[in-house]
Amino acid sequence: MTDEPADHGPSSPGAAERVARDELERALRFVHVLGMQSKLDLVGMSARVLALIEELVASGTLDLRAFEDRRQRVAEREAARMTEEGHVRVLADPTEDKYALVDLPQIDCEARLPLCKARCCTLGFALSFQDLDEGVVKWSYGAPYHIRQREDGYCVHCDPATRACGVYEKRPAVCRTYDCRKDARIWKDFEQRIPADGTD
Ligand code: SF4
Ligand code: SF4
Repeated sequence: MTDEPADHGPSSPGAAERVARDELERALRFVHVLGMQSKLDLVGMSARVLALIEELVASGTLDLRAFEDRRQRVAEREAARMTEEGHVRVLADPTEDKYALVDLPQIDCEARLPLCKARCCTLGFALSFQDLDEGVVKWSYGAPYHIRQREDGYCVHCDPATRACGVYEKRPAVCRTYDCRKDARIWKDFEQRIPADGTD
């Protein structure tokens, strides 16, 4: 017999946690190095573009005011393009404390589920840093930090059979504050209990 503590191997909760933390640290270091390298590349590129513009203005080839107008138009066009589907953007909900939200909409969800089929849980939205810190609500790796959705379009926390929320106590701020009553994607007429087309 030995007095040494038993080796529970990497499968013990403490060891598994350490392995996960080490992996996360390595991944973060890689992302930071990549980010720094990209930043240095951008600084170099922007220095070359600025030098070119200054040279063209100095030689009288470029009208600075016309250039500035065009730059503004191009910036607006590109910003609009970034909102199109297929562009990966990192988005986070700015809500700091979802538990402190007040005046939440009072809706009889349970009674309406057979009608609405919880269609609200098919709508996309971003999680907050509070959600990320809690690590309960899942986000989409392909579209950080949007709520993760299944192939059927529903949030992964929405029970496919009952449509109940599996993370109700920790649900994000958007889920707490969303009001479906005037949303034409959900209801033709909320008061008359007539769901929108396509709610089958
Ligand atoms: S669509 Fe409206 S009534 Fe239905 S579950 Fe969502 S919030 Fe409740
Ligand atoms: S977290 Fe809950 S309430 Fe929010 S979208 Fe998912 S299932 Fe619906």
